[in-house]
Order: sequence, then structure tokens, then C-alpha cells
Amino acid sequence: MANKEFLEKIKTKLEQKKNALEKELGGFANEDPENKKGWKARYPQFEGSGLEDEADEVEEYESLLSIEKTMGGSLKDISAALEKIEKNTYGVCEKCGAEISQARLEVCPEARWCTDCIQ
Ligand SMILES: [Zn+2]
Repeated sequence: MANKEFLEKIKTKLEQKKNALEKELGGFANEDPENKKGWKARYPQFEGSGLEDEADEVEEYESLLSIEKTMGGSLKDISAALEKIEKNTYGVCEKCGAEISQARLEVCPEARWCTDCIQ
């Protein structure tokens, strides 16, 4: 089991990542009230939009949606990792139940799977 000092370090890392992600997401998306921990990209409103602008808007919105999906996904993993720290189940592979190496967790603190299972 990972020691307390290590967990504290990981927790700080996760919280920093979480704050940064939330801030970034908040720049173009709103928290989705219907979906706990979900986000919804705001539809971009361009000034004086004509038909051409509308196509741009859709394109812009679609790219925002895909960014939002990726970032929202990481955010979920980070929140899940923080919850696991609280529940003392952090650092265990969700697939095989093996302990995830500390070296891996240092690089990717929100990792859910061990290196064997990720492949
Ligand atoms: Zn595993």
C-alpha cells in the first residue's frame, strides 16, 4: 500500500490538475446541471453572423465538443482518483486488481489501470 506521504503528493498533483482543467473548461463550457461532473460546451456566438459565419460556428462548436470530451474525461478520471484516495483504494488497477507502480502514478496520477492492462 502506498505511504501517506506519497498519497499527499499525488493528491496535491491531482487537485492542481483538476483546478487547471476546470478553469480551462470553464472558458468555453458550462457545467452540465443534468449530468453530475459533466460539461457542456457553450455554443459560440459570433457577431453579425451571416451564412458563412454560421458554418464557422458549427465547425468551432464541433471542435469545442471534442476538446470538451477529452478534457471532461480526464476530469472524471481525476475526480475518481481523488475519491479513491479518500476511500483508501487508490493505486490499484481497476482491471486486474494489481498495485499500480508508484513510478507510473507519479507520471499519471489519475491512472486507472496498471501498465500490463493498458496495452
Ligand atoms: Zn492491471
